[in-house]
Amino acid sequence: MDKLAMKLLAEWSYDRAPLHRGYTRKYLVVDLGDGDGKYSHTIHDIDEDMIDTFTGGRGFGLKILWDAVSPAGRWDSPENALVISGGPICGITQYPGTGKTYTVFLSPLTEQTYNSNAGGYFGPYLKASGFDALAVTGKSPEYVVVSIDGDEGKVRVYAAPTDERNAYAVTEALHQAFAKNEDDLVSVSVVTAGRGAEHSWWGALNVSFYDPRRKVARLKQAGRGGGGTVLRDKGILALVVRKSGFTGSENDPADLATLQKVGTKLHREIRNNDDVQSLMRTTGTTHLNKIMNDYDILPVNNYKYGRSDAIGAITPEEYKKLFTQGYADGCWYGCSMACAKTVDGFELRTGPDRGKKVTVDGPEYETAAGLGPNVGVFDPRWTIESNYYADHYALDTISLGTGLAFVCECYELGLITKEHTGGLELRFGAADQLMELIHRMVDGRDEFALAVGKGIRKMKDIFARRYGADRAVMEKIGMEGQGLEVSQYRCQESVAQWGGYFLTLKGPQHDEAWVIFMDMVNKQLPTFEDKAEALFYFPNFRLWFSLVGVCKLPWNDVEPEDNRIRYKGIEAAKVPEHVQNYLDIYEAVTGKPLSEEDMILQSERVYNYERIFNYRMGKGTRKEHTIPDRALGPVFPDEWNVRKDYFEKKLEEAGIRGDGLSVEEKIARLQEHRRREWEKLVDAVYARRGWDRNGVPTKETVERLGLDSPEVLEVLEPYWKSAGRA
Ligand code: SF4
Repeated sequence: MDKLAMKLLAEWSYDRAPLHRGYTRKYLVVDLGDGDGKYSHTIHDIDEDMIDTFTGGRGFGLKILWDAVSPAGRWDSPENALVISGGPICGITQYPGTGKTYTVFLSPLTEQTYNSNAGGYFGPYLKASGFDALAVTGKSPEYVVVSIDGDEGKVRVYAAPTDERNAYAVTEALHQAFAKNEDDLVSVSVVTAGRGAEHSWWGALNVSFYDPRRKVARLKQAGRGGGGTVLRDKGILALVVRKSGFTGSENDPADLATLQKVGTKLHREIRNNDDVQSLMRTTGTTHLNKIMNDYDILPVNNYKYGRSDAIGAITPEEYKKLFTQGYADGCWYGCSMACAKTVDGFELRTGPDRGKKVTVDGPEYETAAGLGPNVGVFDPRWTIESNYYADHYALDTISLGTGLAFVCECYELGLITKEHTGGLELRFGAADQLMELIHRMVDGRDEFALAVGKGIRKMKDIFARRYGADRAVMEKIGMEGQGLEVSQYRCQESVAQWGGYFLTLKGPQHDEAWVIFMDMVNKQLPTFEDKAEALFYFPNFRLWFSLVGVCKLPWNDVEPEDNRIRYKGIEAAKVPEHVQNYLDIYEAVTGKPLSEEDMILQSERVYNYERIFNYRMGKGTRKEHTIPDRALGPVFPDEWNVRKDYFEKKLEEAGIRGDGLSVEEKIARLQEHRRREWEKLVDAVYARRGWDRNGVPTKETVERLGLDSPEVLEVLEPYWKSAGRA
């Protein structure tokens, strides 16, 4: 193997804490100094109180981040911490989807807390190396690699051993550098970014695992929120963990037999039902393209339309032909859902790796839709190539897709021109020109590409200030909330999903609440109270995955065959048998029984803590929960006309007479009506969550959840006492 020369800058030994019942009860902080090259580390205990309040994973991340930053801290302050943590279930191998890594940090896009998750082996190996969490603070004056060797009990800081800074190259080189031999390549996991993350706020974190059959390092992304941007701002080329000899009982679970029993049950369900229910094992999440198109939810041309006649080019059948079949592709041991599809031997047509044959991880649905129909391109090969380069440069594919869609619409409306774009004609469907823009985002030399990489919220400022673009129009069509680009579901016709996207903690990302089908298709949430209940339960239920280190997909992408016979409505959507599986495996790992109510309580505590954290950082109130016009309904006549009868009916249902009104006037009336509905939704959701009308948790809520610690009261008491109390 080719070994890189590694220049050691700092080294510390530690005694590896044993994993017991899912926890090591230790976390590691590596501080990279204040640009002065002084590196240090500390190891902290995790006590019972921290476990009771925060559970693990994202909960630990938030607590560690809170302790690291002051209210004045910003994403690029040295004090910002990039925290990585799995959670107590993370690293078991008996149940599908149990190797997730959760990252927490202050985000450049949203200027508040962000959390993002990825597969790959980093989280499990970190735990097996003795740490429930790793936090990196400070800034290094030169690019460094921070490594944890769980076999040797060493934490080391090295000078970056290579000039490569793009993800696939760095990851491959570091797997080779840290593995003892060929067989040991699987013992290494790397977290890195890419050169795009050095200039863009869409910087993604790439988390690796080594694939011994393909003999390549594979990448999974904690893509959203700019974690990769934070990594590179700290001067980190990569984080590396090495732990050999990992076994299925590494967590020292309380009841291995139950883990095996519950896991076997789900493996059987996946084997029997996936081919009829989800096609995860053959097409990954790209099977959703067709379904979203059928229900008018697929984002087409910056969410203007929800379907396209060109769908035939990007159906699951088309992707199935391109994905390598016959391999059980899981992103962690034991995941028989195996949705981590790859395209092997893909020959790149553009960019620095032109002509090279590569293995491309993905695309997953959000990439296939964002770097596809949302920019007007219906060519899977273009999507796969842009997916490869986005990962390699470390650009979040979701924000990139939504951001490019916004750019295309601005261009087509004449808000920006060729003069501004450096000669690129950025129309919907202009595949080559869009690919060129992606390549220009890498080195920060192109002024326009640099502006695009700062995200839609910043683009609106820059386009208005520098190019004289109409601010009001951009506010209507820019699909972002709290500074984060909307993920790839068109939510116009689901009032509940307006909240699922725009009443979130971190901005419009579907991992918090995806209630479109329940609301719009199955009509299970007729009243505002029903919608509020769904926007209470599902965000809290889903948050639990991030506390314990598991993947959401095996929860409801395959269901027991009789789920919809035994349960109806919203109960069926909860997939009760699978909820019971999680309660069983939690107890089997930790030895602590858990009821469904306690599960929601664990999440609600962290959900509210995060909301309070954001309030502490100057955010976290009603004024941040805004929604653009495009998310509520049509903005321009062409959008109206494509579903004219449907929108006329919606106007009528709202009690608005359309006779004699122009299309523009009808659009304005529908928008006014839906804005009123939005405000009603906000009130109902805040009330259900135990927040006041300003979106801040009430004293009663804080006390009920046991969050009334001195640090929280210091933040909220002045607010509660002030006239601002609602
Ligand atoms: S379902 Fe897919 S994303 Fe989730 S753990 Fe399995 S392979 Fe990874």
